Amino acid sequence: MSEKFIPIFEQTPASKIWDFPLHLPPSSGQLFDRLHRPLKDLRISVTDRCNFRCTYCMPKEVFNTQFQYLPHSSLLSFEEIVRIAKAFIAHGVTKIRLTGGEPLLRKNIEELIRMLSQLRCANGEPLDLTLTTNGALLGRKAQALKDAGLNRITVSLDALDDAIFKQMNDVDFPVSEVLDSINQAHAVGFKSIKINMVVKAGVNEQEILPMARYFKQTPHTLRFIEFMDVGSSNGWRMDDVISSAEIRQRLTKAGLALSPLEAQNRSDTASRWRHADGAEVGFISSVTQAFCHDCSRARISTEGKLYTCLFASEGYDLRTLLREQNEQAEQIARIEYAIASIWQQRSDRYSEIRGSAQAVAKSKIEMSYIGG
Ligand code: SAM
Ligand code: SF4
Ligand code: SF4
Repeated sequence: MSEKFIPIFEQTPASKIWDFPLHLPPSSGQLFDRLHRPLKDLRISVTDRCNFRCTYCMPKEVFNTQFQYLPHSSLLSFEEIVRIAKAFIAHGVTKIRLTGGEPLLRKNIEELIRMLSQLRCANGEPLDLTLTTNGALLGRKAQALKDAGLNRITVSLDALDDAIFKQMNDVDFPVSEVLDSINQAHAVGFKSIKINMVVKAGVNEQEILPMARYFKQTPHTLRFIEFMDVGSSNGWRMDDVISSAEIRQRLTKAGLALSPLEAQNRSDTASRWRHADGAEVGFISSVTQAFCHDCSRARISTEGKLYTCLFASEGYDLRTLLREQNEQAEQIARIEYAIASIWQQRSDRYSEIRGSAQAVAKSKIEMSYIGG
């Protein structure tokens, strides 16, 4: 574990980089950053708490009873989240992912989903509304999430072997309950669920083949994720990363050769591959094959800070704008203006320059604070 770890909310002052002009211009419907990347996706963290202690994300030594989570008063309310979402939609966002911490721990999350599902993109189409969960509470919530209007779900699952899974979640949570949750979510109408597996050398690499064999027989899509150097608390070392290329080699050796598929959207994080029988597999290769050049993702923390990169160390405080006592139209115009000025100045590409002098980070935000 790194000794540099500092709770994030102590290190991110409420940055303000914009000066509001007298007359605020209307949103143009699309925004581009300095590398000509559009703003398309928004990830919203709804809690910084979690019921798991995945060793690569919230190691127990750091996220223990002494750890200071955000106080309740810091959290954006559902109404505030919706106002922020509307401002992003005005700038061209068409996809929103709810994340955390564990998003299903946020009380009445289905109510937030219902509110967001009523929003419309600039072209009148519904949003693509998704959520990433560890699956622990999914079984009992799946029907309510579906009824509320959630379109898609991603479930994180790092092993099928119960002992390895428990070792990774570090709270003794059995794998059978996550598998049951996936089945229940499928039964209520989530047709193809994405299954995220973080692969860590020496920890769950022996699960690559069982996971590939198991999920190829299901309607769900397994995605292998390279262990990333997010935050400062997970003790990341390059030696712990198993590259996507290496995983494909191991699959090929075991008779599960894959062939590449066309990308569906330029900004997708996963490259798509298929088994000989057609079943799809994804690879999220942030370490060995960075995809910053097409990154159209903005992130909002639980307390309303805007981050333009997963590896950022500072966010921009939108909550202050939300809580100013302005007329509603004026407030929305100011939030939209702030988002535009932040996005237009963005030049983040951490994964592409990882290891270079430029990338030497101060203290990066934690994954559990900002969401994956
Ligand atoms: N708690 C939820 C879950 O686990 O699905 C949502 C939040 S979690 C931070 C989002 C995703 O980030 C998960 O799929 C998780 O496996 C992934 N993740 C967390 N730490 C990671 C790391 N160091 N490298 C790669 N992926 C990581
Ligand atoms: Fe919790 Fe998700 Fe992080 Fe695991 S990866 S500790 S489930 S936030
Ligand atoms: Fe986007 Fe930052 Fe990840 Fe690059 S490192 S893909 S800019 S979030």
